[in-house]
Amino acid sequence: RVSAPPALAVRDLTVRFAGLTALDGVGFTVEPGTIHAVIGPNGAGKSTCFNVLSGVYRATSGSVRLGERELTRATPHAIASLGVARTFQNIALSAHASVADTLMLGRHRLTRAGFLSTGLRLPSAGREHARHWARVREVAAFLGLERHLGAPAGLLPYGVQKLVELGRALCMEPEVLLLDEPIAGMTPAERRNTAELIASVRDSLGLSVLLVEHDMAVVMRLADTVTVLDFGRKIAEGTPALVQNDPEVVRAYLGE
Ligand code: ADP
Ligand code: MG
Repeated sequence: RVSAPPALAVRDLTVRFAGLTALDGVGFTVEPGTIHAVIGPNGAGKSTCFNVLSGVYRATSGSVRLGERELTRATPHAIASLGVARTFQNIALSAHASVADTLMLGRHRLTRAGFLSTGLRLPSAGREHARHWARVREVAAFLGLERHLGAPAGLLPYGVQKLVELGRALCMEPEVLLLDEPIAGMTPAERRNTAELIASVRDSLGLSVLLVEHDMAVVMRLADTVTVLDFGRKIAEGTPALVQNDPEVVRAYLGE
């Protein structure tokens, strides 16, 4: 990289639904090359926060910036184009698309030539296709998915589908990766494997990761910084060791 990768900065974010404040003036910064976890009891506002960051929900007030760029009112597609990719908590991959095809979907935002020139068989389209394929193979190798590339994605075991979903996001070559419960529903062995992969997303690929995850042991092991939400408010923030022993955090969890 020529310049330092940008941080993702959330400022004073408020999201109101009819009669309910899901997020109330929440702010935090995801520093480049770190894993930043957002935790909190059910209904705390974690998914709402994710949905605002990825452009699915509109913030009532506040702002989201990636470096100098304003993401607050951008569409999901524009946000992805600016380098913020997300995975979904509840995935439903197609049984009619191979793993390779599914990973290629992640290349869409980068396709300059697009479908038109591919259809017209312009030489530039062939070169782009080769480039996309190289990236897909690289990501598949990184995640240990090579042997599944030809398989129908939607028919694979759930844990492997979750990895394909992670791969689709990585194929977008993001700067920031938003992971919504990436190890939920996995077997213990898959959880350990995926936790290690998330650590290498930071350590080897150098990406910033915003992580929402229920498995506290994994959060505490992976995260550099933890933001704790409760009823839409930030109640604590700091290193895992620090927030774990915060009386207000303990109370929020025991009161669940
Ligand atoms: P978490 O992911 O931490 O469990 P959510 O962000 O899903 O919490 O929800 C926070 C609060 O906002 C909850 O009370 C939830 O019912 C409410 N909420 C979330 N999404 C919507 C929506 N689209 N419409 C109305 N209320 C919502
Ligand atoms: Mg949620």
